[in-house]
Amino acid sequence: MQKILARLNDRQLEAVQQVDSPLLVLAGAGSGKTSVITSKIAYLIRSRGMAARNICAVTFTNKAAREMRERVGKMLSREEAKGLTVSTFHSLGLDIIRREVKHLGYKSGFSLFDTEDSRALLRDLMHKDAQVDADVVNQVQHLISNWKNDLVEPDTAAAVAENPSERLAAQVYEHYNRHLQAYNAVDFDDLIRLPVLLFQQQPEVLEKWQHRMHYLLIDEYQDTNISQYRLVKLLTNLRRTFTVVGDDDQSIYAWRGARPENLIQLGEDFPNLKIIKLEQNYRSTGRILKVANHLIAHNPHLHEKSLWSQLGYGDPIRVIECASEEAEAERIAAEIMTRKIKEQASWKDFAVLYRGNFQSRIVEIKLQAFQIPYKISGGTSFFARNEIKDIMGYLRLLINPADDNAFLRIINIPRREIGPAILEKLATYARDRGVSLFAACHEMGLEQYLKEHQVEKLRRFTHWMDSIIRRCESDDPIAAIGEMIRDMDYEAWLYQNASTPTVAERRYANIWTLIDSLSDTLKRMQEDDDQVGIREAIARLVLRDLLEQQEEEDDSDKVQLLTLHASKGLEFPQVFLMGMEEELLPHRNAIESDTIEEERRLAYVGITRAQQQLTLTLAKQRKTYGEMLNCTPSRFLDELPQDDLKWEGRVTDTQSPEERKQRKQDRINALRAMLNN
Ligand code: ATP
Ligand code: MG
Repeated sequence: MQKILARLNDRQLEAVQQVDSPLLVLAGAGSGKTSVITSKIAYLIRSRGMAARNICAVTFTNKAAREMRERVGKMLSREEAKGLTVSTFHSLGLDIIRREVKHLGYKSGFSLFDTEDSRALLRDLMHKDAQVDADVVNQVQHLISNWKNDLVEPDTAAAVAENPSERLAAQVYEHYNRHLQAYNAVDFDDLIRLPVLLFQQQPEVLEKWQHRMHYLLIDEYQDTNISQYRLVKLLTNLRRTFTVVGDDDQSIYAWRGARPENLIQLGEDFPNLKIIKLEQNYRSTGRILKVANHLIAHNPHLHEKSLWSQLGYGDPIRVIECASEEAEAERIAAEIMTRKIKEQASWKDFAVLYRGNFQSRIVEIKLQAFQIPYKISGGTSFFARNEIKDIMGYLRLLINPADDNAFLRIINIPRREIGPAILEKLATYARDRGVSLFAACHEMGLEQYLKEHQVEKLRRFTHWMDSIIRRCESDDPIAAIGEMIRDMDYEAWLYQNASTPTVAERRYANIWTLIDSLSDTLKRMQEDDDQVGIREAIARLVLRDLLEQQEEEDDSDKVQLLTLHASKGLEFPQVFLMGMEEELLPHRNAIESDTIEEERRLAYVGITRAQQQLTLTLAKQRKTYGEMLNCTPSRFLDELPQDDLKWEGRVTDTQSPEERKQRKQDRINALRAMLNN
């Protein structure tokens, strides 16, 4: 323990040892806030004799949760850490719902609707009366989501709705909730909302949880929304001691209902709140820090902070202006290649950050051209792959046959010749009867809607599914699921539909990766609670699918591609921040809606991920809606201290396209040769 504490500075140490009152650690990027949380977990267990199962640490993304778990794993033995909860708000909520499912009026094995599922349900509900357009559905979805995050229930929503679209959303809101319940499903926002409602309505349930969680630690507190804050307040209300850490300059989720004001609210709700500020940055060079501080100084501040670093002043920040988006991506790939060789760096030392997911595609193409290994976080995910979505569809249906979206996804995969006409009649029948599609297949009345051989096809499927559901209740559900995949000959279907056998093979292998991961999840959950069965494990996997996107446990040596949002809390020796242009960063919508400050915080988050070198890139021209448009450099570039920037690429290109192409190829060849030597 001494070793762990000796590493900390005085303020960090104070924060770690402050156990008897509520504590807020408010500090800038890289000042060791997350380190305070991980060290404090070790301190509570080792020096304060607290049981790991009574400690709960909450963070924002799954990637961050995993990192935190790793950091704690280095300090404590497996035995000491047994039962410790380190999770995201959403998985914590899921855990509460799972354990209290009966109190909530849900059945076990409930489904979690992702954004697409919710939208499909809303569309159905709204289509009943009239044809509605996709934008309207999206808007209704957004409003309902905001209400849920703000803990505004349907009756209140109806009362506060101010304009026609809010009134429409308020009307749909109540139906939507009712249907979710009927489908035994919850949506994303319910993962926090339902536990809060439960705790407010049933104090004895709350008490049980308060007794279980003696100490709560929360990272990235600036990004909590109203419902998350309420959850924290309820859970800690018995002892009124906890640790939250945050940085108001890194609040980047206002668009999803985050309330940085929660930082101020804490002081009002907990008058004995202790506030500790950290000022030494252990991550970045002095120059990177100076640039970051300059930028963020353009925003108004809740609390002034001044960060300093002892890591030397460091290299200038390079700003590279490229002819086009393609040239930009290529330049980044070439830079990574050269630096990797020159500085004997690892691939994983490099991160490429961008504002929008769509920007990653061109970088991927260029990295592939240079044969640079990379991985994308928060983009097209493992779980977004079609084969994974198919099998997840089956798994969802296994734990919840009433999940119509899952039913529709897989009814014809592999082909069962159940066409749209049959499905439409089935849907009409199910709607009239108020039952799910799966249940409808079992009902006698269906024969009046469909021909005998059509009913036969549907029943063949549902009887088969029924038998798998039964087999899943056996001793070895994983084996039953494996059999299901073989039984339907999903492999043959993949081979029929893939462009080459290699592709099919890879897709089939992905399926087994998924099943392995399900098996691991089940084992891990059973270590903590032997009552857990396959249903809960699948539910956890479905959730992980939604939350985690592609964050497979992959520690291999690869360049990381991430959105700015996904990069929060992480650090990399070399960072490329691309697309430093007006309309991209700051984003066009933010310019239109005058929410530049949040964009500036995003840029601040990006810059402060860098440890040693930071490179900002931008394009002079970019294809937008199929047209080449001139770009304007981001206003944020003007807000940086110009003496610390080294501009490159501001020359006119006089070469012909052929010459340029040749030069490019020469460069790639030269770099490859260097790498092979
Ligand atoms: P962010 O705001 O980006 O989430 P943070 O405040 O959580 O940053 P950490 O990630 O905890 O900062 O720490 C940044 C880096 O500094 C990490 O590499 C961490 O190991 C290191 N660090 C933290 N505290 C110390 C310390 N006292 N001595 C040496 N290194 C430290
Ligand atoms: Mg952190």
